[in-house]
Amino acid sequence: MKLIFVGNDYKYEIEGVMKLFIPASLFDLSYPDNVPKSIEGDYALIVREKNDDDTHLQVSARVGGNTQTRSGELLNTTPDYDNECELLLSKLLFGCMKELTGITPGWGVITGVRPVKQVNKLIDKGLGDDEIREYMHLRYLCSDKKTDIAIKTAHTQSDILKTLDKRSFGLYVSIPFCPTRCSYCSFVSTTTESSKSLIPQYVALLCQEIEHTAKICEKAGIYPDSIYFGGGTPTTLSASQLRAVMGKISDCFDMSHVREYTVEAGRPDTITPQKLHAIKEMGAGRVSINPQSLSDKVLENIGRKHTVSQFFDALEMAQQTGFECINTDIIAGLPGDDIGSFRNTVDTLISKALDNITVHTLSIKRAARLNHEGTADALKNPAGEMIDYATDSLIKNGYAPYYLYRQKNMLENQENIGWSKPGKESLYNICIMEEVQTIIAVGAGGSTKLVDRDGGRLERIFNYKYPYEYIKGFDEILKRKNGVESFYEEK
Ligand code: SF4
Repeated sequence: MKLIFVGNDYKYEIEGVMKLFIPASLFDLSYPDNVPKSIEGDYALIVREKNDDDTHLQVSARVGGNTQTRSGELLNTTPDYDNECELLLSKLLFGCMKELTGITPGWGVITGVRPVKQVNKLIDKGLGDDEIREYMHLRYLCSDKKTDIAIKTAHTQSDILKTLDKRSFGLYVSIPFCPTRCSYCSFVSTTTESSKSLIPQYVALLCQEIEHTAKICEKAGIYPDSIYFGGGTPTTLSASQLRAVMGKISDCFDMSHVREYTVEAGRPDTITPQKLHAIKEMGAGRVSINPQSLSDKVLENIGRKHTVSQFFDALEMAQQTGFECINTDIIAGLPGDDIGSFRNTVDTLISKALDNITVHTLSIKRAARLNHEGTADALKNPAGEMIDYATDSLIKNGYAPYYLYRQKNMLENQENIGWSKPGKESLYNICIMEEVQTIIAVGAGGSTKLVDRDGGRLERIFNYKYPYEYIKGFDEILKRKNGVESFYEEK
């Protein structure tokens, strides 16, 4: 598909809107000086023509031989002119593509990751639910159904966010190793098949980074109120390696404000009673055990290398270990899944009375193997119907949405939602999604996000992505962490 821009370069947003209709595609972009006389094949032509007082905006799109054209005008004195041009062109393109494909993406032209952030801003301005629905529809073409779920999420978050202390932060610990690679995965994660030998050195350096970071946080006068071990699969580490890292954290950080401590146990095939006891004894009260699907056929399709019965065994082990909160992740739209087996996954997890159930939608990312091997089949999955079923069932069974985010190339332009029983919401997940609290990350692939809640300042410090880079560039990583202290000094 060709994307042709004349008089503008709104490439990022326009590509995002096109992907709502044609996910996982690469577009052929061009920027001619004038509107081409003739164009071969499928295309979208995005034209901005600035006159003395106003601007004429026009979009034409052709798909499979059918063409649609939409146009609009904007005064040159419009506040935030560039953003408004971009938004109007996105809406014109949305109108053309909706007609040409018969698809109506529920989130309208919102291509960003955090629709709830937008709703939270409207709530802060004093708008009621009906006014928010109307605004989201007129400005972004967002459906009432999607706005309602964002409003519900914002309401669940509001009391929790009020309890945040300005000197607190969330600590993220990255363990970027997995036993094998799942076909849909595009996380920074290395399989233990290829890098088992790196783990002891990685653990030793991670402990050093924790010690260094804790000193900087102490100087900056900040302390963790939540801790989150993610990856990868943290339980790829042995029980003694988990004890070493978790012990280093409690030795070095001020733990007196920590009110939530999560370890993503992730893959059931890495979980043992010894590891769960180590995690619990070292202070974590929340674990995540993720089947992604309760169909052995689907698990095999996505290369998870564990079975449904291994998931139930791991879940029982975690329940017996006595964690305060157990989360489980599932994905709608996995290859080979269908509505019947997805419903069974949702119903079974609800029947287990879990505290948190996180429902993701498959996102076909470039880095994932699935992108090369099974995209066409995956795109046929009724992800929207699956998400609707999960949403209705979870609400009926007393769960509320407490965080929500979107990714690029999600099937049927859906979303990921964390559902929780009342009082079991994860503070860390809310804070990272809404960008309302500093997150300090340690380990390969970690990204520290410094947030000044008063001034709206947001800065990032990145660690190297892969374990071998982390090990090689470790001194530089320690140096970069000094940015935390400077950020808080400037406040
Ligand atoms: S367990 Fe998670 S992080 Fe690891 S390969 Fe699978 S999807 Fe990726």
